[in-house]
Amino acid sequence: MLDNQELVFKVLIIAEFTVFSVIRIIYQKSSMKAGRRTVIAESRRYAVYLALFICYEVFTFLAYIFRPQGFSWAQIALPLWVRWAGAVLGLLSLLLFIWVHRSLGLNLSATLKIKEDHVLVVNGPYRWIRHPMYSAFFLLHAGVFFMTANWFIGGTWMLGLVAIIALRVRREEKMLLSQFGRDYLAYMEQTPRFIPKFIARSPLRLRN
Ligand code: SAH
Repeated sequence: MLDNQELVFKVLIIAEFTVFSVIRIIYQKSSMKAGRRTVIAESRRYAVYLALFICYEVFTFLAYIFRPQGFSWAQIALPLWVRWAGAVLGLLSLLLFIWVHRSLGLNLSATLKIKEDHVLVVNGPYRWIRHPMYSAFFLLHAGVFFMTANWFIGGTWMLGLVAIIALRVRREEKMLLSQFGRDYLAYMEQTPRFIPKFIARSPLRLRN
C-alpha cells in the first residue's frame, strides 16, 4: 500500500515535469521563428551552471526512483493531504506557465535576449509580478518538496533553483533596463519580482 502511494507521487512528478517541458517546447518553437536577436546578455558560465543543475536534478531523481532506500534518512512524515497539496501546487505552476507563455508571446527566449521588435510585456501575470516564469519554477519545486516528502531531494532542488535564478535575474533586469530605460524603471517600482502584492491598483500604462 505504502509503496503504491510513493509510486503515485513519483509518477505525478514525472508527469508534471513532462507537461512543463512540452509547454516550453511548443511555445519556444513558435517564438524562435520570429524576431531575430539583437542583444544577448547570457554568460557562458551561467549556461554551464544551468546544465549542471539540470543534470543534478535528473541524476538525483533517477537515484530516488530506483534506490529509494538510499534516501529514507531524509524522509519527513508529512500528512498525506500535504503531499497531495504539493501535486496541486505543481498543477497550478503548469497553469501559470501557460499563462506566462501566452503573455510573453514572441518576446520569449530560453537565453537572455532582446529581440528585434521586442516589447515590454506588462499584462497577464506580468501585471502582478516581474518574473512569473521563475515563480512558476518555484511553485513546481515547492510541489516536488511536498510530493517527495524528502528534505534532501526537495531542499537541494529548491536551493539550487534559488541560486540559478538569483544568478540570472539581476543580469536580466539590467538588460531590460538598458533596453527599456524609464519604462522598465517605472515597472520595477510598481511591480514585485516573484510574489504579488494583492492590492488594487491600476495597470501600468507605458508611453509607447
Ligand atoms: N524573467 C521572466 C521571463 C523569462 S524568459 C519571467 O520569469 O517571466 C527570458 C526572456 O524574457 C529574456 O530574454 C527577456 O528578454 C524577456 N523578458 C523578461 N521580462 C520581460 C518583460 N516584462 N517583457 C518582455 N520581455 C521580457
